[in-house]
Amino acid sequence: MAFFSGFIGIVGPPNAGKSTLMNRIIGSKLSIVSPKPQTTRNRITGIWNGSDFQIVFFDTPGIHKTKTYLHSSMVNSATSIFNEVDIILAVLDVNRVSGEETRLLLRLLREIPKPVVAALNKIDKVSREALLPVISAFRSEMDFRSIIPVSARSGDGIDVLTGELKMMLSLGEAFFPLDAKSDNNEYFFVSEIIREKLFYNLKGEIPYSSAVTVESIEENESGSLLNINAKIHVETESQKIIVVGREGRVISKIGTEARRELEKYFGMKIYLDLFVRVEKNWTKDSRAMRRLGY
Ligand code: GDP
Ligand code: MG
Repeated sequence: MAFFSGFIGIVGPPNAGKSTLMNRIIGSKLSIVSPKPQTTRNRITGIWNGSDFQIVFFDTPGIHKTKTYLHSSMVNSATSIFNEVDIILAVLDVNRVSGEETRLLLRLLREIPKPVVAALNKIDKVSREALLPVISAFRSEMDFRSIIPVSARSGDGIDVLTGELKMMLSLGEAFFPLDAKSDNNEYFFVSEIIREKLFYNLKGEIPYSSAVTVESIEENESGSLLNINAKIHVETESQKIIVVGREGRVISKIGTEARRELEKYFGMKIYLDLFVRVEKNWTKDSRAMRRLGY
């Protein structure tokens, strides 16, 4: 059976509904986008698996208060993701399209040599009469692949949008495993946190040639503790020795830092069981690893 995949970058002004829209598309509340913005440092925020496709979404990172920061942050995230993605999904609040933010975003998008789909969001708050002129104004702004009115809140128009996105995918393998675990974004989030600690604690190429998989996340019976079991995959025995460190010091520091952050995130005590495994050519097989900077 033919399989299709692609990376989609979600850009747009803060509060346009990017996260809500992605949650709506993926169909479950993703823990990775929910609480504190500083925890969602990584830009990959969702993976949508279907029987014959996989879409990896990049959301823009948390955006904060000041006006200049807000703008530069939007610019930076938009420009830095466009190299990594195949398709851009621009999310705009249909009630706020005339602002400076929108002009700035359009200026950026015109420079991006990738197909851009515009989702005009929050149509539940606007009349049909008011919507049509907005769509035609957008059409004259730039060569969008399509302009789709949606409501991330009510679900209106989402099928049209997802249908369009699926049609734009390229023939190609999945970037991530299609099993149940990779669907579960808590697993993915936990692996990203651990991976981040690898980068903080190890120099050189090791973090790039390693990967993290989360085997299980289970609450104990009383619900007071979360048991997390994860593996760090490295390519050689000598890398393993470095990751483990003398008397296990490096791995235990990585584990402690990850655990602290995860405890804040999940709001409960965590027991993190972390071990290192040698898996030759782990990185060579996978397109995703290279592309995501592993
Ligand atoms: P982001 O900053 O672009 O990720 O925006 P969020 O997804 O956090 O949404 C910002 C606010 O807009 C939240 O209060 C959402 O509930 C609200 N919102 C998102 N989509 C819609 C929509 O389709 N209709 C309405 N009325 N509100 C929405
Ligand atoms: Mg958001």
